[in-house]
Formats: sequence, structure tokens, C-alpha cells
Amino acid sequence: TVLGQKIWSFISTILLAGPSSAEKSLFGEENIKHALKTGDSPWFRKINETEIRDACGKEKTIQSVAFPVKSANGFLMGVIARDITETKETERMLKIAKENAEEASQIKSQFLANISHEIRTPLNAIMGFTEILKEFSFEDSRFETHLAGIEKSGKALMALINDILDLSRIEAGKMSLNPTSFNIKSLVEDVKQIFSLKASQKGLEFTISISGELYGEIVLDELRLRQILFNLVGNAVKFTQKGGVTIEVLARRKQTLNNTINLTINVVDTGPGIARKEQEAIFEPFYQKQTETAKLEGTGLGLAISRRFAEMMNGKIAVSSQVGEGTTFTLYIPDVPVQESLHGPDRKKPLETRQDGRGLLEHNTLVEKIFKEIQVKEGSKGKAHSFLKKKVWKEYDKIANILGFDEMISFSAMLADMAGKHELEFLGLFAEKLNREANAFNVIEINRMFAAFETLRKKDD
Ligand code: ADP
Repeated sequence: TVLGQKIWSFISTILLAGPSSAEKSLFGEENIKHALKTGDSPWFRKINETEIRDACGKEKTIQSVAFPVKSANGFLMGVIARDITETKETERMLKIAKENAEEASQIKSQFLANISHEIRTPLNAIMGFTEILKEFSFEDSRFETHLAGIEKSGKALMALINDILDLSRIEAGKMSLNPTSFNIKSLVEDVKQIFSLKASQKGLEFTISISGELYGEIVLDELRLRQILFNLVGNAVKFTQKGGVTIEVLARRKQTLNNTINLTINVVDTGPGIARKEQEAIFEPFYQKQTETAKLEGTGLGLAISRRFAEMMNGKIAVSSQVGEGTTFTLYIPDVPVQESLHGPDRKKPLETRQDGRGLLEHNTLVEKIFKEIQVKEGSKGKAHSFLKKKVWKEYDKIANILGFDEMISFSAMLADMAGKHELEFLGLFAEKLNREANAFNVIEINRMFAAFETLRKKDD
């Protein structure tokens, strides 16, 4: 007996349960005879799983396989069977646990996405009104210190919220890419320009090397690629104390597809390096090496987000590092479409890509509010405009302070040239320029200004 059943009834249960229903019709006497004569049958060598009840009425899962055994007059049928009830049960529990975990993770991501949004809206208002308050002069100078405090904390909170929002959107499957064609060389130069001040303050060399077959504009989500590079280059500059940082761009044209390249971007630094055992962990959300957490700013989300963006682009990010010598992060994206560039750099593009970016709409309504406030304060729309313009010039000085001398000169020349022609367009461009600088230094403020110009531009249209 097997599990309390007669061996023959057991075997026939197994055999009947085995083949698909179409094959069951083969389970006639003739066919069995044929099977035993030739050693050939649809049941042979098939692994079957059968539910049966044992003598105590308990459900059991039996795994079995039938096979021919050669004998003097034809074949015998051999059957091997084993009880896999426990394995099955474990598998089932694991599946349920996995489904539960996935559902919980989905709910968590959705929750985070909602809450981040809910926090960002009032935070935008706090930041906006802080900005307005900064325009007043206070008798008590402590107010200014307090305002600066609000502003600094607000920015840190905004950066964190934006990262959490990005990550939870990705995890909830709500993030989609928005590919446009753009010039990778200008993007990398932009990134360099933004970090070059920080690098030079730390005495670091900053170099770019571009090689391979880059003959046009690549088609990718520029905003997200920019974000990846910001994280990688930002980290390289942040963690490296001496030596330098290099961005290497390599484009390999595909042999088979003419308008496609495989893109590799290495961000190389001569920083402290990352121990082998930590090289995977750093891509986990909120992971920061213990020693650094105390002294350096950051959320521990940058790499987690970057890796996910890379994966969304069908690419990947890998790290190789030697402690004490430095680190190389490699972003690899295969099969990137390339377009011959027909026109010069399109100034409007960054404005458009921002539409899908962070909270422009919220900014806009907020800016309108702020604008109204200013209008009330200044007495007329025209005066409010000139107030904003004045404000821009003030920011310009601030930016000017952080630009190198040569850059300043050419920047001023460019602005002066444009200012005479189309005032608002010039301001828009200026805001865009500031926006780029700002990504490293002052994201929120400049984003808001950028939005202010959008609003002004619309009003003037
Ligand atoms: P954050 O920079 O905000 O802390 P990231 O996700 O970007 O978060 O990085 C996670 C951790 O990986 C960092 O805290 C740091 O310990 C380590 N790390 C990242 N880049 C480098 C680098 N270039 N050199 C040394 N350590 C690095």
C-alpha cells in the first residue's frame, strides 16, 4: 500500500492525472499494450503532480514519473513517486508572502507619493512667502537670520521630498520617461560647469573626455539623464578631498543599426573609495556609510534613484572601486537612438522638459499669488514687473559671484546683447541659465523664478 492506498489504484490515479486531457484518451488498454511493447508512451518521463487523499483522508501532493523498464518480453512500467506535500505548502506560503509584500510595497509607494505631494504644496507656499518677506527690511536684524534659517531648512526638506517622491513614483510604476533629442556634449558640459565651482574650491581637477562616434543628438529623457549625472558627479565632488573628477563619455555606434549607439558614461574620482562589501548596499535607499553621515549632506537616495532611472532606460549603473584610490561609477545605456542635428541648440527644450518635471504647476499658481502680492505692494502690474526684473539682477550678481571671471565676461556679453532686443525672452533665457546653475546650488529658488518668468511671459503673450 502507498499512503494507505492499494498500489494499483494509486498508480492509475497518478497516470490518469498525468497527461493532459487530450492525452487521456490514449489511456486505453490498446495503448497500454502498445506502451509496454514499444516502451513509448505520452506518460513516460513526464513529471506529474497529483493531489490524492491518504488513508486518514489528508490531502497529499505526490510527484511521480513513469518510465519503461526493458524486460525479456517487451517492457514493464516503472513508477517513482514521492510525497511533496510539505514542499508544496512552503511554496504556497512563500507565494502568498510575496504577494502580500508586493501589495504592501505598492500601498507604501502610493502613500509616499501622496504624502510627498501634500507636503510639497504647502512647503512651496512657505518658501514663496519667505521669499516675499526677504524683500522687506526689518528693524530687528534677527528676523533676517530667522528667515535665512527657514529658507535653508525649507530647501533641504524640499530636496528630500523630491527624492522620496521620485523614488516612490518609480516604485509605484507611475514614472514614465519623456525622451527628446539633445546634445549629450552640452549636457555633460553643463554638469561640469555646475560642479566646477565646488570642485575648484576643494582644489580638485575637473575634466571631461568625450570619445567615439557622436555625430548627432541622442534621444533619451534628458531631465532624468541629467539627474543621474548630477547624483554621480555630485557624489564624486562631495566625497573626493584631493585629486580630481573626470566624466568620460564613450559612444559606440552599433554595427547593425546605423542610427543607434551604445552609450557609456564613466564618472571617475580619486576619493576614498567604497569597500567591496558596501558596493551593492550603496544603491539601497537611505544607505549611507556610517562615517560620512555625520559630516556630509545627502539623503542616501541619489544612487537608488539613479539606478532605477538607468534601468528604466534599459541601462544599468555599476560601480568599481578600490579603497583609498577612488571610485568609478559606470552608466551604460545600450541602443540609444541618434538623430542628425538639423538645427542649433533649441533654447526652448529645457523649458518643455520641465513640464513633466517637478511641480511647475504648483509653482505657477504660487507665483501668481506672489505676483499679486507684489502688485498690491508695488501699486501696479508694471511696477510689479520691474520689481521682479530688479530682483533678477540681484540674483544675477549672486550668480556672478560664483562664476569664474571668463565665464562672467562672456555671460554678461551674451545677456547684454539679448537684453536690448527682447526683454522678456532674455529674462526667460536668463532664468533658464540660472536654473542650470541652480540645480547644484539653489534649486528651489531658481525653479520658482523660472516659473515666475513663465507666468510673466504668458501674461505678456
Ligand atoms: P548620498 O550621497 O545622498 O548620501 P547616495 O545614494 O548618492 O546618497 O550615495 C549613497 C552612499 O554611497 C553615500 O552616502 C556614500 O557613502 C557612498 N558613495 C556614493 N558615491 C561615492 C563616491 N564617489 N565615493 C565614495 N563613496 C560614495
